[in-house]
Amino acid sequence: MKTRPGICQRKRRYASREEAEQVAVRADVTLRAYKCALCGQFHLTSRTKGLRVPRVSAAPEA
Ligand SMILES: [Zn+2]
Repeated sequence: MKTRPGICQRKRRYASREEAEQVAVRADVTLRAYKCALCGQFHLTSRTKGLRVPRVSAAPEA
């Protein structure tokens, strides 16, 4: 995943994936922890698209 600098600076940073995921499980929405290539720490994202493959139907072949 590509992280843009603006997003990195706006987002809360976590020193470890464990710390980020602890916050994620307490949140009301589904959050995923990912390692940021810019700061080397972890952020949370509510965008789960592309991180996991929840369904395999309707794959566009364009
Ligand atoms: Zn970052």
